[in-house]
Amino acid sequence: MATIHYPESADLRSLLRFAPEDGHIWMAENRMLLLHAGAMSELRKELIASVGQQQARRILTRMGFASGMRDAELARKTRGTSGPADAFVVGPQLHMLEGCARVEPVRLEFGGPDNGFYGEFLWHNAWEAEVHVQAFGEVDHPVCWMMIGYASGYTSAFMGRFILFKEVECAATGCEHCRIVGKPAEEWPDADELRPYFEADSIVGRLLELRDEIEAMRHTIACPRRTADLIGNSSAFLHAYDLVSRAASTNVSVLLLGETGVGKERFARTLHEMSARKDEPFIAVNCAALPDELIESELFGVERGAFTGAHASRAGKFERAHGGTLFLDEVGELPLPAQAKLLRVLQEGEIERLGDERTRKVNVRLVAATNVDLQKAVHAGTFRRDLLYRLNVYPVTIPPLRERTGDIPALVDAMVRRFETLHGKRIAGISDKAMHALKLHAWPGNVRELENVLERGVILAPQNGLIEVEHLFIGNFSDTAQQHSLSAQGALEVTRQPEQDLVAAVLDSGVSLEAFEQSLLQRAVEQANGNLAAAARLLGMTRPQLNYRIKKQSD
Ligand SMILES: [Zn+2]
Repeated sequence: MATIHYPESADLRSLLRFAPEDGHIWMAENRMLLLHAGAMSELRKELIASVGQQQARRILTRMGFASGMRDAELARKTRGTSGPADAFVVGPQLHMLEGCARVEPVRLEFGGPDNGFYGEFLWHNAWEAEVHVQAFGEVDHPVCWMMIGYASGYTSAFMGRFILFKEVECAATGCEHCRIVGKPAEEWPDADELRPYFEADSIVGRLLELRDEIEAMRHTIACPRRTADLIGNSSAFLHAYDLVSRAASTNVSVLLLGETGVGKERFARTLHEMSARKDEPFIAVNCAALPDELIESELFGVERGAFTGAHASRAGKFERAHGGTLFLDEVGELPLPAQAKLLRVLQEGEIERLGDERTRKVNVRLVAATNVDLQKAVHAGTFRRDLLYRLNVYPVTIPPLRERTGDIPALVDAMVRRFETLHGKRIAGISDKAMHALKLHAWPGNVRELENVLERGVILAPQNGLIEVEHLFIGNFSDTAQQHSLSAQGALEVTRQPEQDLVAAVLDSGVSLEAFEQSLLQRAVEQANGNLAAAARLLGMTRPQLNYRIKKQSD
């Protein structure tokens, strides 16, 4: 096999971006940390002292494994179209860029019909050997556990099969360097001995799992709100949830308030599920979706011959919801005659079908919802004041998503799992940067918008891959005005990514330069409230220059 050369690493360096104003470091879409090796050394020491060498080794190996797997994503991304060896050495090159060691390839063979693998590398200046010797002196066994985990995780993810790396020499034992060899797990005679270091199932793992289980049980007992549809732990969400659950045991009519898309129907369903009526029907009606002339027959039913076309008698939603819950969404859209009838049902507990003399008793809990200000509607004469008083006995305001961004990760998790099943896809998760973008977005369409965005994300993300920012389409996401990237000499350089994106956006839009200039000038003048000197400052030009351009355009 020919000597392996590393390709120029500019493509990898450009993935690394420092955004100090935001307190972020990014490696592509992974959030990174610049840690002190000395602090890692302390952590290693503490681990070894508290859980013993074997468990410390296991934890660090798995930690390295997790980093390696994340970096393998980048190989496909940056060098997916290069030769396989150039793509593979993304791992060793990133390991170097991340400051772990200088990696010198010795032998690398992989692929072929049996998807085989053999890799041999030297590590010079391995950080883990260095800190171990500093803490414990020279030892008689290899100690670069996290780094071995990295090599194994990277290669396993790259190859799509479990490749196990082993240190056959380690600088911590007095060797000049560490030497690592990687092969498919089954080709190692001592694989069974090594495998546990990569597996979660161990005493500590089992204990942690047990603790999680107990925690989860406690959680479910303490707050039974983990119904399939309602997810959240923020105080704003919990407050609304608490109000709804207290209403559940009574028959009070509930008015759900909140912006569009906050999940009012889900709250209504949850209220129904928690009530004694849960085995009876839950009927939902969107008042805005029904034409005015149909709404009364839909709600209250119709007797044969009541009007032309009423060929058969039909029960309305109130009758169908008998014993259960009727959810009236967008109740503010009800026409006034229907409002009068609704008020009567609420007062008398009985309905009259259209064209019928008879009244029928109905036992229905009403949950109404609106995203308009009903008080204003009363003033405008489009909503009955007496009906508002009747509905407003127990109002519950559901917070908009932007007021509970802390709930986004849990919502994302549940939604991604749901869409995976729905679309028959496997998704590894969501990138740190995409999650960051989701938290920054203002979500005018609330949970429903998040749902739509994630459904697209699941569809667009590669099979078994991560959902990334580009799969989400949530407007012009740019998390910082100025970023720093790493030059070939290792110095930080300022890059202006968002401006480049702006240029790309203008080009993509197909707008002419003249038209763009015109809108830019207009916007600046508007923003400066017509003050031309201020507008010129916004544009970084003098007032005569601005005058000239405006005049040129009006000619
Ligand atoms: Zn070593």
